[in-house]
Amino acid sequence: MSARNFDVIVIGVGGMGSAAACELARRGRRVLALEQFALGHDRGSSHGHTRIIRKAYYEHPDYVPLVCRAFERWYDLEQRQGIHLLTECPCLSIGRSDSPTIAGVLASAKQHRLPVETLTSSELCYRYPAFCFDDDYVGVLERSAGFLYVEDCVQAHACEAVRMGATILDHEPVVSWQANEREVSVQTTAERYTAARLIVTAGPWAGQMLARQGACLRVVRQVAQWFGTCDDAAFRRDVFPLYLADTPQGHFYGFPALNANGAKVAQHYGAPEVTAPSEIDRAIKPQDEETVRAFLRKHLPGIDGPCHRASVCLYTLTPDRHFIIDRHPDLANVVLAAGFSGHGFKFASVVGEILADLADKGSTALPIEMFRAGRFSESKV
Ligand SMILES: Cc1cc2nc3c(=O)[nH]c(=O)nc-3n(C[C@H](O)[C@H](O)[C@H](O)COP(=O)(O)OP(=O)(O)OC[C@H]3O[C@@H](n4cnc5c(N)ncnc54)[C@H](O)[C@@H]3O)c2cc1C
Repeated sequence: MSARNFDVIVIGVGGMGSAAACELARRGRRVLALEQFALGHDRGSSHGHTRIIRKAYYEHPDYVPLVCRAFERWYDLEQRQGIHLLTECPCLSIGRSDSPTIAGVLASAKQHRLPVETLTSSELCYRYPAFCFDDDYVGVLERSAGFLYVEDCVQAHACEAVRMGATILDHEPVVSWQANEREVSVQTTAERYTAARLIVTAGPWAGQMLARQGACLRVVRQVAQWFGTCDDAAFRRDVFPLYLADTPQGHFYGFPALNANGAKVAQHYGAPEVTAPSEIDRAIKPQDEETVRAFLRKHLPGIDGPCHRASVCLYTLTPDRHFIIDRHPDLANVVLAAGFSGHGFKFASVVGEILADLADKGSTALPIEMFRAGRFSESKV
């Protein structure tokens, strides 16, 4: 029996794959997107209620044009689907003035003329009395920030893709894929499919899917937890910001209290790295709570209530913690998007556009030079 044929096959329908399928279908391509679990599952990287989106990007100023475009694309998706996805909310970065986070936020803001407000520690405590930081800490407040409802975003991209004619099949794991200069062929547990182009957006499973190109990827277990507060009114989003705190004990971030679960708090990085999602312990342990409570006791003592919810989620890290978005170095008809290193979701809407450009034309006008797939092997020559 001959294989079913498409213009483009997308492997993995999480944050990035759903966006790519949506954009390609919008452009009239015959798209097949394959997901190993149920659509919207909680075993990868795109679950846990919310994701921060911010423009003054401490990780590198070159992300700023992309995040500006991502904002437009999220609003466009909201309009197309008639659903609310992005809530504007100020984001407060906190750290010592020479910390990489503070220096990075200010550098991006300066280079891209983004309005931010620097707060001394006493201004920080006056404006946001819930925080307790020593005198050598400062805050940088950015108002052009917010949060995305992560599961709703994936669902909205998938729904829009299907509305535009894409085929999305979930519970259909890809077992293997091959490519030659004429076509790509994808074998799932159920069937074989062929297409002119392939996009691999396998998130934490990208290391397994990509062989040599995935060898540099490491997976990290991250735990988000929701704690009750002493007074929910003091942690509402009209009075309490999103925050990132760079402390000697680690990087922590959190959200206002958005519902009865309380305020979401998590540590950024900090956990041991492994090579495959199967090595991750998905049970919640007492130590997960203790690490975050130690931060809260010291710096946010009003968030001291019971832990109402906890969720294990995976980061997929590259060695430099910047993304991989590129054509496959050896196969012109295969496009890769991987290693979003714990800060990729906000970009999903623009990554979909970039992946559609790369699959369609082999290039994109959007700035992605720093995401080249070959950069880790090149440096070893
Ligand atoms: C706790 C936590 C907090 C975060 N906070 C933020 C934040 O505030 N802001 C931000 O911008 N980013 C944040 N991130 C990062 C962001 O969520 C990720 O970078 C992003 O979700 C990655 O999307 P992805 O599409 O690469 O992976 P995923 O969403 O995991 O998608 C990959 C998909 O591929 C599927 N797949 C894999 N292999 C196969 C196969 N063989 N066959 C079929 N399907 C397959 C998987 O099942 C999965 O659905 C956070 C991440 C975590 C874990």
